[in-house]
Amino acid sequence: MSILANRLSRIKPSPTVAVTTKANELKAAGRDVIGLGAGEPDFDTPSHIVEAAKKALDEGKTRYAPPAGIPQLREAICAKLKRDNNLDYTPDMIHVGCGGKQTIFNALAATMNPGDEVIIPAPYWVSYPDITALFEGEPVFVQCPAENNFKLTPDQLRAAITPKTKWLILNSPSNPTGSGYTRDDLQALADVLLEPANAHVNVMTDDMYEFLVYDDFEFCTIAQVEPKLFERTLTLNGLSKAYCMTGWRLGYAAGPKALIKAMNMLQSQSATSATTFVQWAGVEALNGDHSFIAANNKVFVERRDLVVSLLNEIDGIDCLTPQGAFYVYPSIKGVIGKKTPDGKVIETDEDFVTYILEAEGVAAVHGEAFGLSPHFRISYATKTEFLEEACKRIKRAVEALS
Ligand code: PLP
Repeated sequence: MSILANRLSRIKPSPTVAVTTKANELKAAGRDVIGLGAGEPDFDTPSHIVEAAKKALDEGKTRYAPPAGIPQLREAICAKLKRDNNLDYTPDMIHVGCGGKQTIFNALAATMNPGDEVIIPAPYWVSYPDITALFEGEPVFVQCPAENNFKLTPDQLRAAITPKTKWLILNSPSNPTGSGYTRDDLQALADVLLEPANAHVNVMTDDMYEFLVYDDFEFCTIAQVEPKLFERTLTLNGLSKAYCMTGWRLGYAAGPKALIKAMNMLQSQSATSATTFVQWAGVEALNGDHSFIAANNKVFVERRDLVVSLLNEIDGIDCLTPQGAFYVYPSIKGVIGKKTPDGKVIETDEDFVTYILEAEGVAAVHGEAFGLSPHFRISYATKTEFLEEACKRIKRAVEALS
């Protein structure tokens, strides 16, 4: 009898974490590798947030916190949701988790019964399907190709809903595409959810990249666009990306009291709570100075424009300009079927990323991991000179194909 639980056979390790680990191992072994796999800003956590954590430690804020999160942080989250999204949540509608990922984990753990369906527009963030499957839910994928800027259409949503649908997961701006839903896009999806036949469907909106939007794109979240969905929406967010706090592990959810209570109960039986002094840093992050975000975004936009233009110079690669986040998701349709100098045919996007890693030391993530091929994902949250060099190497690798 295996020591491992049967349910583990439903899931696999996170492919984005795996690529980053592999790139780091190759680097440690002396290979010249440029890692474009990691979804984390290369900027340090702003110093006022670091200082708040230090102060909390000095003040002895080192004991257990309530599973829901410290009241000061839940208040700060409510104030943020009002300020930025015009949403009226109270602290008993807030759950604080150890990162956005654990918050989503708790939400799905609290709501999945065997066979419950979760509509996941593809390409998707890699963890939605696996966490759903771990709790015996059924991911229902809807292919959302580049032609519609990787977005789910109202007709696709209507067609995907069944009596077993429990959740629709939305993520805007998206990981892996950077594509953002406009207010009108969200209203059109909300209208489908408001049809009487669809009253049983809830929405999980993952707003992790809310502040990382460029040009004049206006971020909106679905409960703000359609207040009639407020009671059916779980609004998820976190501090990892915009606040450059990936390693601090702080995320949150806002939603109906009964669901939040259940998530808090789960937290009380697992992590107990997010780390106490990290939560105090979170209070400062949410209530304090936000000017660094605009400064960081200026850099992200320059990098985005650089990467999009360099990739589009490559024959066989097509790259849309995203509205937000720090990823591009180019198509490699024009490369599929070509042969490497070693005589290997590039049949899949996984073959392609393996080839560019082996031939040129560029680590990126294959589109299949995100459910839409043939594409690959580049994170441009890294130094501009690395991005330039990486695009040069990808170009050389593609030009070497026949
Ligand atoms: N949601 C999306 C869309 C993400 O891209 C990520 C991280 O990559 C997360 C959630 C998880 O964030 P955290 O690092 O806070 O767990």
